[in-house]
This record gives sequence, structure tokens and C-alpha cells, in this order.
Amino acid sequence: MPKEKPKKGQTGATKMSQASSTGGDPEVTGSNENEGNHGLGDGRFRWDTGLLVAAPDSVDKQSTNEEVTAYWLERIRNSTFAKALDIVEEREVVLRLLEPFEYRVGNKWTAATFNIGRDHQAQALAAYILLPSKNKEPCVQCSSHKSRGPCLDCLSFGNDWFGRACSNCKYSGTPQNCSFFKERVAEEEKQKRADRFEEMRNNPDKIWFTQDDLKDHLASELEELADIIQSELNERASRRAMPGKSPAKTPAKRQRQA
Ligand SMILES: [Zn+2]
Ligand SMILES: [Zn+2]
Repeated sequence: MPKEKPKKGQTGATKMSQASSTGGDPEVTGSNENEGNHGLGDGRFRWDTGLLVAAPDSVDKQSTNEEVTAYWLERIRNSTFAKALDIVEEREVVLRLLEPFEYRVGNKWTAATFNIGRDHQAQALAAYILLPSKNKEPCVQCSSHKSRGPCLDCLSFGNDWFGRACSNCKYSGTPQNCSFFKERVAEEEKQKRADRFEEMRNNPDKIWFTQDDLKDHLASELEELADIIQSELNERASRRAMPGKSPAKTPAKRQRQA
């Protein structure tokens, strides 16, 4: 159980020398290895210009972010969570280190802890460490004072991952509540409505729409449309009212009965 505790706070500028002095591996060279996040196939993760430290057997509050990251990558690699495994097995370049989010309970600051008891937790941590992020701002949930992280940054990896939800929302098991996820759904619905509208324009004999289809149009456009429909209805009504010509049942019938 007792383990050599390295000094804390060595995750910044010193990580390069730390990484290359730890493993004793031959020096890693090659400046283009970040491309596609594939390494040399030796099963070690790359971090910065060297190797990530070897995974320790356990981590505690004294552990560096780099050790924490190596530890969880190893735990994921030894897990049976297929999707998380795919992420760690197909990539070798660590893009960022796990760093716990700190939040206040009462007047006490608490650092979030990591766990991979559940599949979605393992996926979220693997993505945080290894996938390139696409967002510049944090999601609504991570911006909230209620946020519990667990990761320091809010990272979304585009539509192909977690439906665009950030890794913290994915970790919490409610990716569908992430504002990025909702944003994607809204965009897709808007696109669908635009497609339906386009289809209607191309097939004027089949004019149909629902109230939803009208959401993206200006009030002035809808008024114009309402005017067109109203004048068409007026025209039909006046045609129907013309004696003799109308095939409509009611007025003719009544006349006959009279
Ligand atoms: Zn977030
Ligand atoms: Zn989120």
C-alpha cells in the first residue's frame, strides 16, 4: 500500500522531463505523431513531447494530474466497457490531463473525485483525456453553480460523440440535458423543417405543413401566407355562392326542396 509520493504541482512545465525520465524508454521523437492520435504501437500513452508516466497502483490527494490520468487510463484499459475501451485502444496521444473540478459546499471547497463504476463514466473520462474538443464555451450545466464536474473543463467532441453532449454531462448520465445536446437536436429539427418546406415548394400540388413547420418564419411572412390562404378561401366562397354553377349540395338542395 505505501507508495512513493512525488511532489505535487509538477504537472505544468516540468512534465516533459518528468515523463521522459520516468519510463526509461528510448526517447520518443517524431513531430507528426499527434496526427490522428496514433503512436508507435507499444501500448504507452504519449503526453506532450514524451511518454505519460506509468500508471501507479493507486492515487490519492498527493498524486499529480499526470499520475491520476495514467491511473484512470489503465483502469479503463482493464475494464470491460466496450465503447470506452475503443476510445483508449485506438488512441495513444493524451490531449489533456484529468483535473478535478472544485466546488463549494457551504463554505468548504471540495475537489470532485473520479469513478468508472458505470459505462458512461468510463466513456466520459476516456473522451476527456483523448478526444479533440470542439467547443469554445462551457455548456449551461457546467456554467451553473450547481455543477459538480467532475472534470475541470467542459468539453464537447462534436456530433459524433455523445450527441454533442459535454463529457461532464455524459459522466453524470444525463447527456440529453446538456445544452450542447439540446442545441444539436434543435438544429436538426430546424433542418428537417427547412427540408419539408423546400419539398413543398418543389411540389406545389402537395401543399401541406404543420404549425411546427412555420416556426422559423417571420410573423410578416406568416401574415402574407395567411392573406394568400384567406383570399383563396374568399374566392371559393364567392364561387360557391354563385347560383347555378355550384356543385355544392346545400344551397341547391334547399332550393329544390322549397
Ligand atoms: Zn459541460
Ligand atoms: Zn454539458
